[in-house]
Amino acid sequence: MYAHRFALETAMAGYGFGFERVMNCAIGEVMSITKPIAPLLAELEDLLGPVGFTTDPHDLAPWLTDWRERITGSALALVSPATVEQVSAVVKLAAAYAVAIVPQGGNTSMVAGAVPHGRALLLSLRRMRAIRRLSPEDNVTICEAGVILSDLHDAAAAIDRRFPLSLGAKGSATIGGLISTNAGGTQVLRFGNMRAQLLGIEAVLPDGQIFSGLAGLRKDNRGYDLAQLLAGAEGTLGVVTAAALRLVPAFAARSVAWVGLDSPEHALSLLRMLEQQLGDAVEGFELVPDSALQLVLKHIPGQRAPLASQPAWNVLIETTAPAGAPDPNERLEAALATAFEQGLVSDATLAANEAQATALWTLRENISEAERQQGGSVKHDISVPISQIATFMAETGPALAGHFGGASVISFGHLGDGNLHYNVLPPEGVVAKQWLDSHWDVVNRFVHDRVSACGGSLSAEHGIGEMKLAEFARTADPARLAALRAIKAALDPTGMMNPGKLVPLALN
Ligand SMILES: Cc1cc2nc3c(=O)[nH]c(=O)nc-3n(C[C@H](O)[C@H](O)[C@H](O)COP(=O)(O)OP(=O)(O)OC[C@H]3O[C@@H](n4cnc5c(N)ncnc54)[C@H](O)[C@@H]3O)c2cc1C
Repeated sequence: MYAHRFALETAMAGYGFGFERVMNCAIGEVMSITKPIAPLLAELEDLLGPVGFTTDPHDLAPWLTDWRERITGSALALVSPATVEQVSAVVKLAAAYAVAIVPQGGNTSMVAGAVPHGRALLLSLRRMRAIRRLSPEDNVTICEAGVILSDLHDAAAAIDRRFPLSLGAKGSATIGGLISTNAGGTQVLRFGNMRAQLLGIEAVLPDGQIFSGLAGLRKDNRGYDLAQLLAGAEGTLGVVTAAALRLVPAFAARSVAWVGLDSPEHALSLLRMLEQQLGDAVEGFELVPDSALQLVLKHIPGQRAPLASQPAWNVLIETTAPAGAPDPNERLEAALATAFEQGLVSDATLAANEAQATALWTLRENISEAERQQGGSVKHDISVPISQIATFMAETGPALAGHFGGASVISFGHLGDGNLHYNVLPPEGVVAKQWLDSHWDVVNRFVHDRVSACGGSLSAEHGIGEMKLAEFARTADPARLAALRAIKAALDPTGMMNPGKLVPLALN
């Protein structure tokens, strides 16, 4: 049903490559959608060689379905350039043949942002994985788009620095994808999201020009900021090929605690108390309901519950300290003791060593995977003003259960950012897949309407991609949509860059 709806939407929208749009293109020649593609494929093969070009369905298959396995697309070819010049040449060729480009990194998008459809090239950045520069003097790294996040973590650690952004998909997500979705993750509380790490960009624009802005300047007021414009653009304005990113000093020690409590209200009060006592030593503060923990224990091998008492809610807390600062374990323990006295916390354990700290984070980072194995849920990635989060949760869960015959909610995530992954599970006794297919849209609307009523966002960190396009179009402020379309039309007049994602096309 979902695929059907998308097909309808894209057909109605002309998909950016309707005949009229192609006739109006600004690429210098009048193109036709029927222009044969065999010569294009031959030119691409010449350009990229066998390592960088394939049309073999076996090579393409793993990259055509989104991470949630809800949408499967198709592409003319998988192209994997190794240099920015090759990316530019591919984009120019695609433009000349009126073929769309869908950039892809690790394909871990939660909103099917990197699934191609039809007359499109799937452009993988995974071969561009050099870390061109790591500078402790500038606290800057220059990374190519295909660098995997955990590889950057390791490289920064080797020079006693840190790249301060992490998330559950760190073993697959790439720098280009993280920039293009303006990813968040578990350290936004202290360091901000991907935009906050971005000091410059190298990108191939839809006309094939290479924009090179990798000086890594911390101050640069030459008008519109192209790096920030491409961040969160989901590949709709160009292909990110490299970026200048900020590094921060490595911490000397960290303290990781798993804390049990009665409610999200108590969790928020605890966060504010810790901030008062520990300042910006608080880096991570992740809310985990018992229901999510139980799914991880059930589906991910080798895990065990951190607390014997099985509280209804948990938070995973991380604090850090630079060299010479007081022991973060002692400070966190003292703060938690005060929280016990105030009745905010019912149980807690502190990791005694790095292995235990990693084990606690593993529980948090595997919630999405465990949910996937459980059989799925209607997903939401929402943000509301932090002060309204507890009320939102207290009211929306029961309202959903009432409307949808006992559907339940697992909500977890970045409480300190006002961001919850708010996932609605089918009622007991129904066939999960059937229920999800028939209720996905209506549950989405129910939740998003409540989020909108709080002044919140239907996408806190995953982006819009293909999955949220219709809901974004339905709920967005007209001025926001008009500005988005104007920017898209200015930079990508033929709509060749990742069509059908992020930018809802006007239907009139
Ligand atoms: C287990 C799990 C946990 C996650 N946790 C979080 C989380 O905590 N916070 C969060 O924000 N996200 C999270 N995500 C979502 C995902 O990891 C991020 O969206 C990530 O940024 C995607 O990176 P990628 O390389 O896989 O990009 P892809 O999925 O390949 O692409 C994502 C989007 O970016 C575009 N794109 C990719 N590379 C480029 C490029 N070089 N130039 C232009 N456009 C490009 C694609 O076209 C697509 O629109 C999670 C995902 C999983 C599977």
